Amino acid sequence: MKLLEIECLRAGYGQITALFDVDLTLEAGETIALIGANGAGKTTLLRAVTGLIRAVGGAIRFQGQAVSGLPAHAIAALGIAMVPEGRRLFPSLTVEENLLMGACSGRHGPWTLERIYTLFPVLRERRAHAGTMLSGGQQQMVAVGRALMSNPRLLLCDELSLGLAPTVVKDIYRTLASVCGEGISLIIVEQDVTQAIQASDRYLCMREGRIVLGGTRAEADRTAISHAYFGS
Ligand code: ATP
Repeated sequence: MKLLEIECLRAGYGQITALFDVDLTLEAGETIALIGANGAGKTTLLRAVTGLIRAVGGAIRFQGQAVSGLPAHAIAALGIAMVPEGRRLFPSLTVEENLLMGACSGRHGPWTLERIYTLFPVLRERRAHAGTMLSGGQQQMVAVGRALMSNPRLLLCDELSLGLAPTVVKDIYRTLASVCGEGISLIIVEQDVTQAIQASDRYLCMREGRIVLGGTRAEADRTAISHAYFGS
C-alpha cells in the first residue's frame, strides 16, 4: 500500500491559490526530495499534508485513510510529523521540554528521550538549556528530535540546511539516513538541490504551485532540472 497519496490537490491562503492540482505518491520507506525556487509551493504542500492549511480541492490519503479536513493534531496522531523551516522551537522551554512536546501526539514506538540523546549526544549535555540558546545546528537537532519523539511513519523536513555550516548539514543528513533505515519515510524540502537529491530516492520539482518534473535520483539531469526550476 502507498504510504501517502495526494491527488489533484488545490490549496492556498484565502483568495491566493498556491497549489494547483498536485499529484504525489510516496511508498513506505521511500525518501522524496521536493525542490523548487522560492514561492514554488513546497512549504504549502507540507502544510496541507499536516493539516496546517485546509485543502480546497483534491484528496490526501495516509495509509489509505483520507486526512484532508482533519485537524493537525489528529494528523500528527496518525504518524505524520514536520520539522518546520526555521526550527520553531518553543523559546521559553528547555531542550528537554521541547523534545517532550513531540511526544504529545501520544504515539508509542522506538523513539524516546533516551534514543534522541543517543542520536544527538550534545543534546543530553544541553538538556536543561533554553532551546533557543543553542547553536543553529543544535537547534536543528532539537527540531528533528522533537519530530522523532512523535514516532512518525512520515517525516516532512522543511529547509533543514538553511543557515547551517556545510559540516553540520552533512551530520544532520547522515542522521536522517540512519532514521530512514528504521522504516520512516521522508519528504525533504531543500533549496540545496544537490544535497536534497543525494539524500533521496526520487525528486519532484515544483514551479508556481505545480509539479513540473520528477524522476529517480539516477535520472536526475541538471539541465532538465534547471529548466524546470526556473521555467526557462
Ligand atoms: P520558500 O522556499 O520561499 O519557502 P516555497 O516553495 O516553500 O518557497 P511557499 O511558501 O509554499 O513556497 O509559497 C507558495 C506561494 O504561497 C507563494 O506565492 C507565497 O507568496 C504564498 N504564501 C505563502 N505563505 C503565505 C501566507 N501565509 N499568506 C499568503 N500567501 C502565502
